[in-house]
Amino acid sequence: MRPLATRMQRLGTETAFEVLAKARALEAKGKHVIHLEVGEPDFDTPKSVSDAGIAAIRDGYTHYTPSAGIPELRAAIATHVRRTRGVPAEASDVIVTPGAKPIMFYAILALLDEGDEAIVPDPGFPIYASMVQFVGARVVPLPLREENEFGFDTAELERLVTPRTKLLILNSPHNPTGGIIDTRQSREIARIAQERDLWVLSDEIYSELLYEGEFVSPWAQPGMRERTILLDGFSKTFAMTGWRLGYGVFPRPLLDGVTKLVTNSVSCTATFTQRAGVEALERRPHEVAEMRRQFAARRERIIAGLNEIDGITCAWPKGAFYAFPNVKQLGLRSAELNERLLNEAGVACLAGTAFGPQGEGYLRLSYANSLENIEEALRRIGRWVAEHGPVRAR
Ligand code: PLP
Repeated sequence: MRPLATRMQRLGTETAFEVLAKARALEAKGKHVIHLEVGEPDFDTPKSVSDAGIAAIRDGYTHYTPSAGIPELRAAIATHVRRTRGVPAEASDVIVTPGAKPIMFYAILALLDEGDEAIVPDPGFPIYASMVQFVGARVVPLPLREENEFGFDTAELERLVTPRTKLLILNSPHNPTGGIIDTRQSREIARIAQERDLWVLSDEIYSELLYEGEFVSPWAQPGMRERTILLDGFSKTFAMTGWRLGYGVFPRPLLDGVTKLVTNSVSCTATFTQRAGVEALERRPHEVAEMRRQFAARRERIIAGLNEIDGITCAWPKGAFYAFPNVKQLGLRSAELNERLLNEAGVACLAGTAFGPQGEGYLRLSYANSLENIEEALRRIGRWVAEHGPVRAR
């Protein structure tokens, strides 16, 4: 048998799905596991949105749509991003996709040639680096350190830019750390991107899940609209992960090419899903605010609880729904600790290194889970650490 294309060896993955599979295998053997590994809201999709989707199926919205999406949804998205970011955007700038992930895929495919460089947050969502490598470009990690509240160091970012750098990927609020890009950093990004002629992919999927500070979009800085791809979607804000609905707002030169990539890959996003999206944006269901309130309460509990465990310290995430505790004092590598917590304590979470080398010494716990499960997970981790750690001497 002839081998697969060499690019397949460069394709990474999202460890969350691997840990989930391991956890499910343990459950099949009778072990009880608390799931803090996958980043998806545990809430149901708001009823009005589900009803709109069901009505759309009944009304015959079950055929292909234009590749870039239905005009009503593109218009609703343009209105939404204008309102939330204060930047002019037209329906024709929007491309709707099955989830927000394909926006990464398409933007990277459309922009990077072999040998180009892309600056990617480290730690950061693993798909960025995976896709950059897949297309044969080089990943240049931008360290996000706890001492900078998981923001980046401007001088360090400037040093990483070379004549081959074509793309800068940003994510605020940030997965896995919960850090945000503030106004000062946003201005610095705009200056560097314009001086060094970079494209920017601004992943703002958690823009509505913010508990401290103010949401600032690098897209909204003067001069950035023309060089920034804004990525956002419905999975997190509206608890719609399984519907698969996301979008990008693109600078004009990318629109035709990315629309063709949609035509070449998925043709379009499911029609009834798009109709449900119109309902979500135009009549914003009351459950959205309630979900955010519950995430805020869970955040309080999990961060306080982690900080009560000897050997663990946890910074307060400003947004998203992840805790990123520092576990360095426990003396184990993140991957080993992650494995042992799953097998011995029955708590599934992710090693910080699933998000890049800078994640060593951290774990990622998703608090998109009930307060009762969070309490139980904290008890289990606390008990495990009391029995096995802190093992500072190792
Ligand atoms: N961007 C970040 C930072 C994420 O964490 C996720 C999902 O986990 C996505 C994008 C993709 O979301 P979607 O479900 O819309 O594809």
